[in-house]
Amino acid sequence: MALIVQKFGGTSMGSIEKIKQAASLVIKEKRLGNDVVVVVSAMNGETNRLLDLAVKMGGHQDNMETDLIISSGEQISSGLLSLALKNESYDAVPLLGHQVRITTDESYGKARISRVDSDNIHKMLKEGKIVVIAGFQGIDSNGFITTLGRGGSDTTAVAVAAAIKADRCDIYTDVDGVYTADPNIVPDAHRLDVVYFDEMIEMSSLGAKVLQIRSVEFAMKYGVNLFVKSTFVEGKGTQIKFLGDDENMEELQVSSVACDKDEAKISIRGIPDKPGIAAKIFSRISVANIVVDMIIQNISVEGHTDLTFTVSRKDLKKALEITDILAKELNAKEIISDDKIAKISVIGVGMRNHYGTASTMFGVLAKENINIMMISTSEIKISCVIDAKYAELAARILHDAFNLGKVNG
Ligand code: ASP
Ligand code: MG
Repeated sequence: MALIVQKFGGTSMGSIEKIKQAASLVIKEKRLGNDVVVVVSAMNGETNRLLDLAVKMGGHQDNMETDLIISSGEQISSGLLSLALKNESYDAVPLLGHQVRITTDESYGKARISRVDSDNIHKMLKEGKIVVIAGFQGIDSNGFITTLGRGGSDTTAVAVAAAIKADRCDIYTDVDGVYTADPNIVPDAHRLDVVYFDEMIEMSSLGAKVLQIRSVEFAMKYGVNLFVKSTFVEGKGTQIKFLGDDENMEELQVSSVACDKDEAKISIRGIPDKPGIAAKIFSRISVANIVVDMIIQNISVEGHTDLTFTVSRKDLKKALEITDILAKELNAKEIISDDKIAKISVIGVGMRNHYGTASTMFGVLAKENINIMMISTSEIKISCVIDAKYAELAARILHDAFNLGKVNG
């Protein structure tokens, strides 16, 4: 007998029929003799609808009222799934974040979990119940409802799995696993049996929507045995795991290609090249809660240099307001911005043991005459900023160049 956490996302909760389908997957685990804790998302589109209402009433992303409003979608889902299980004569109990006691900090809209109380869950499991937890929500030290950031039910599931020491945490979604690339862009992309934690963190941060990045970090920290599976198609799914010592890394170089079209770039031209300037610029930007991704600085000419960086596209307007003020203070020559860019990345733990990944990547892009505007690298990833109109083409040719097609998979 094992202890399993199953998480169902918005599409899996999308209608009465789909909730019944999810219930059948819960029952299947239960029939195998396992204890099951379920974490649910709001029905597809519901969180957006609720957020829209809050915004229309003047609510901001970080108001406690907004969190109270947008957390309610998960409440409904947990009730519906619990009813679906009871209809099939299984004893279930729906629990909200505060009833489990999932404690978080007070950053409304993006709260971090500080503790998950496992006593209540264990007690109910002992009574033979299936526990159905509303994902995405917690409670702060003042007793107010918080939410964990968009996609946060994944993090609820992983945090619960860690707290109750579950044998497995299955994230059910509308795709049957993690792919070598977005199949909508790259037709011969295929499902990976295994993705390593380091890779999954890169993939999530590079725009793969399959798992919230925080949930992957959490799972990695606590060693949660994590799978991504489909609610609608039976299959093995993808296991997210640690890289073992015994694994043969010789064959792997790149395991996936990611394409992120959510960024924009800003260049500040002709700023003085002296200590403290970058610190000044980026501290102003970070105070505004804007996350900067890539940064490059040109070599200085006659004591002046250009600084280029990328931010999320939704933050471009705010970032430009800040850089406009800075440009005046620093006597900069001009500000140029571009939101028609894409970041194309190749990812793979095998890159650590291979030479030439970067040169292959650059060569492939050059052959198609695709200009590289910015480059950033880590041990297991190389990203290039290119013109957005080449994003899909670049994804396809790189997928090919690193032999990620179905035939080779
Ligand atoms: N319902 C929330 C959202 O749409 C949380 C989740 O689905 O994980 O972001
Ligand atoms: Mg999700």
